[in-house]
Amino acid sequence: MSLDNRPIYTGGCQCGAVRFRVEGALGDASVCHCRMCQKASGNFYLPLVSVRGATLDWTRGEPKRFRSSNAAWRGFCAECGTPLTFEASDGMALAIAAFDDPAGIAPTIQWGVEAKLPYVDGIANLPSEETMGDVSSAPYLAELVSYQHPDHDTDQWPPEERP
Ligand SMILES: [Zn+2]
Ligand SMILES: [Zn+2]
Repeated sequence: MSLDNRPIYTGGCQCGAVRFRVEGALGDASVCHCRMCQKASGNFYLPLVSVRGATLDWTRGEPKRFRSSNAAWRGFCAECGTPLTFEASDGMALAIAAFDDPAGIAPTIQWGVEAKLPYVDGIANLPSEETMGDVSSAPYLAELVSYQHPDHDTDQWPPEERP
């Protein structure tokens, strides 16, 4: 919370070259299945939350932008490729999973369902394993060193020493 009790959210890309801070209430949270959102995210659908009514600051770096149509731009980290924004004349939305704490930003509507991929609804019913569930088939996991930016702001990134 800020001094005047406005909520504060932080987040950024995977590599940490781009970081943002949002002060104020978030707007509608959604997923979009449209083909443009699939391509822009390299994924089955794109979860976004509107920051139209809040104050957004880029606290480190800024996204590179691709104009995906005459109506919108898509922002992403030029260093690591993480999708970060959807920007149109009526405001900006941020990729929900780019927030440091995305668990509290639950989508409330699906858009673009005419393009929904046929297996998406079945994913929740697939067999499920935790990351370390079969470490023998991926032994590198046991000694994994993450180079991903942590889920909080940092004074310096990357750290000076990296193994
Ligand atoms: Zn990055
Ligand atoms: Zn879309």
